[in-house]
Amino acid sequence: MPNNNQYLFLLSFSLTFSFLVLASFRVSAFLTAREIHLRNFILIGLPKDLQHPDMDVHSIQDFIKNFSQEDAIALAQTPAFLASAGLVAVTFYWLLLSGERKPVLNSNEWKEFPLVLKTQTSPNTAIYRFALPSSKDVLGLPVGQHIQISAEINGKDIMRSYTPTTLDQFDKGHFELLIKTYEKGNISRHFSLLKIGDRIRVKGPKGAFIYNNKLTGHLGMIAGGTGITPMYQIIRSSIWDHSDATTINLIYANVNEEDILLRDELEHLHHNSAGRFNIFYVLNNPPPGWKGGVGFVTKEQVAHYMPSQEKDCKILMCGPPPMMTAMKKHLDELKYPAPRTVSKLADQVFLF
Ligand SMILES: Cc1cc2nc3c(=O)[nH]c(=O)nc-3n(C[C@H](O)[C@H](O)[C@H](O)COP(=O)(O)OP(=O)(O)OC[C@H]3O[C@@H](n4cnc5c(N)ncnc54)[C@H](O)[C@@H]3O)c2cc1C
Repeated sequence: MPNNNQYLFLLSFSLTFSFLVLASFRVSAFLTAREIHLRNFILIGLPKDLQHPDMDVHSIQDFIKNFSQEDAIALAQTPAFLASAGLVAVTFYWLLLSGERKPVLNSNEWKEFPLVLKTQTSPNTAIYRFALPSSKDVLGLPVGQHIQISAEINGKDIMRSYTPTTLDQFDKGHFELLIKTYEKGNISRHFSLLKIGDRIRVKGPKGAFIYNNKLTGHLGMIAGGTGITPMYQIIRSSIWDHSDATTINLIYANVNEEDILLRDELEHLHHNSAGRFNIFYVLNNPPPGWKGGVGFVTKEQVAHYMPSQEKDCKILMCGPPPMMTAMKKHLDELKYPAPRTVSKLADQVFLF
């Protein structure tokens, strides 16, 4: 179904077209009254004598009256007719059927989006869904990049980074953020106080990491807490892309079992990955019978689950700063290159 903008476009197109047709009749009448005949300009090269056998059409009425089925078939076979028909068909498809819209994000301009749904996933974590201007819009965020959110808190403009869990290729008309609220946090607390209809300010895309299925043969990921969001976006894009052969191994660390975010979604991806994607969970406080890692992520676990640095591989990391410091030390001891202060796409170890 066409949306409101498309109806508006068709209406304005019809009005403009009708206006131009009327205007052309008035201009034509004006010129004819002064003995200026437009056909003398349009039919340059053809005989000016209207009685000439090649010029047996004197008016639109004559033209319609004399227009036979053979004329229609001959006209339909002319390159000009075929090209025009093709152009009209492409324009029609583009306007009404494809429904493709321009990406909404702009990296130089703050845009506002209203909250339309909040789904609490644990006492301090929720998924926030924001509507885009049209149901066919996409956010316009390349896989691996993130957005910035800004809000005025106590008279100061505060800005933080977030990675949507939605993807342009699957999710139209909205985007979602999975956010953990910290009691003393600025933006995460601001989120927790939002009501349906409240708007947030967003700018992007930001970040140096952009994933594509030829980027590397093996991805190793180490995530802690909400650091899972950039990883989830990349895993989801990779696993549903059947031309992608990248293997992905994820170490995901949390405090308690109930803190594991997007667990069902990650398991689902694992089961549909034909062995390409594997997860190793680590918990500080494991429940009885826990089969994953216990305590903090160790050097041995990194060595076991991450691809060897000699392979065509990249290690991606996102999590709380103390955990990231410990992981950098493990990787250094395992002879991986040290990540830069601000990572670049070409780096073997990339810190979000
Ligand atoms: C690329 C990128 C993507 C990110 N994506 C997400 C995402 O999808 N979802 C998400 O929830 N977060 C994400 N983050 C983290 C996010 O940017 C904020 O750092 C986080 O929401 C805290 O911001 P704040 O303003 O609420 O807290 P701040 O004002 O920065 O911190 C104030 C206080 O809050 C508490 N606090 C803040 N962060 C932590 C922490 N990690 N552990 C313990 N206490 C803390 C501390 O008491 C701190 O003193 C991402 C970060 C990056 C760099």
